[in-house]
Amino acid sequence: MPGRRYNCACGKKRYRDEAGALAAAAADERVFQEAAGVYRCPGGLAWHVTAHGFTPEALRSVGRRLAFELAEHQEVDLEDFGTRVLRLGIRPDARRRERVRQCAEQMIGFGLARPDTGRPETAGRLVAEDVQGLRRVVQIGLDGYRDERA
Ligand SMILES: [Zn+2]
Repeated sequence: MPGRRYNCACGKKRYRDEAGALAAAAADERVFQEAAGVYRCPGGLAWHVTAHGFTPEALRSVGRRLAFELAEHQEVDLEDFGTRVLRLGIRPDARRRERVRQCAEQMIGFGLARPDTGRPETAGRLVAEDVQGLRRVVQIGLDGYRDERA
């Protein structure tokens, strides 16, 4: 199939870097009159353009999903996040639950979020501190964000 080799393993068209993806997004916006976003492929180093709005379901990493929820809703109950967003209520997975905890700790360490300690009954609740930073995590993942800060 012509052009197929330009596609990423995830099925989306790949761009070599963020600048290339941004240029493509800007061109899309001119053609479709619709806002386009860019993000780094969760499976690799390629960049992609989202033509029709962002679908968080496409984000396979726990850190990106958590960052997305926090940026959208300003606060997240970690228990609820695992059950509702990652559907761990249906498919229990102790490793993924642990990953949620790790990601939350990392975000607190980066100053992206803070635990809600105001009310003791809301233990396990995370409050967004840096929405712009969280949106960056959605784009490039927690590891990418850490590398960018280094
Ligand atoms: Zn991809």
